[in-house]
Amino acid sequence: MHILILGGTGEANALAGLLAVRPAIKATFSLAGRTRAPVLPPIAYRIGGFGGAQGLAAWMREQRVTALVNATHPFARHMSFNAAQAAAENGIPILSLLRPEWQPGEGDQWTQVANHEEAIAALGFMPRRVFLTVGRLELAAYANAPEHFYLARTIDEVEPKPLRNAVWLTSRAPFTPEGECRLMIEHAIDTLITKNSGGSATEAKLVAARMLGLSVILTQRPARPDMEQVEHAQAALDWIARVHGMPL
Ligand code: NAP
Repeated sequence: MHILILGGTGEANALAGLLAVRPAIKATFSLAGRTRAPVLPPIAYRIGGFGGAQGLAAWMREQRVTALVNATHPFARHMSFNAAQAAAENGIPILSLLRPEWQPGEGDQWTQVANHEEAIAALGFMPRRVFLTVGRLELAAYANAPEHFYLARTIDEVEPKPLRNAVWLTSRAPFTPEGECRLMIEHAIDTLITKNSGGSATEAKLVAARMLGLSVILTQRPARPDMEQVEHAQAALDWIARVHGMPL
């Protein structure tokens, strides 16, 4: 048995933690290598792309991979499709480990949009003060709306800076509602723009926006291929046991 975990999320790391204490299960963790100082898993890992679905299928054949867990980020657009294609080509089972989306609560002022162009349109024409947490690689879209002020937070520093009327922050989750409130008040934020990533590590900004009565614009997740899906690492471990016909 050899499990390949496509990582990039806390859920992937949680599954690696469960496998680390079960050395009888051979597993390899794969990271794309986008983050400069990634959180490394406690099991064997590799870093970097495979070269598309064909490259992934070839790597899995060479390494005799028997099951694939796609635990990439909900906004990773391509890897899920590559994974589905490569698993089908090799005839091995595949599972999606995907955390649930955030849902609006009472009093929330959420606008859900398909992409950043729609998010900009939802901002309107009056200059707004926006807390922007959409990821380093997607900030540039907001250069098309320079009338707004942006507080842009990323894990890694953004260089060159794609926005002019902006304050830049680098930090890594988890965050607290109290800390997020302080930050939003300090920068007189009136709107939060973020992706509907789900998960508890970055949810505090939504709690803070609710407490302060701020508008929230969320981009919705891209489509994923159809496959068996679970939300938690333990359920993924149960699936691994089931498809290999073993007790855990
Ligand atoms: P993507 O569009 O799905 O993937 C682009 C390419 O990156 C893939 O075609 C693949 O290259 C490589 N790749 C992606 N995930 C990989 C993995 N786990 N192991 C090895 N190669 C991988 O994904 P993305 O949006 O660029 O995100 C890249 C990574 O960052 C993902 O692992 C994702 O989970 C994580 N992440 C993404 C976001 C986000 O908002 N997009 C946020 C947090 C974390 P090849 O075709 O060469 O194999």
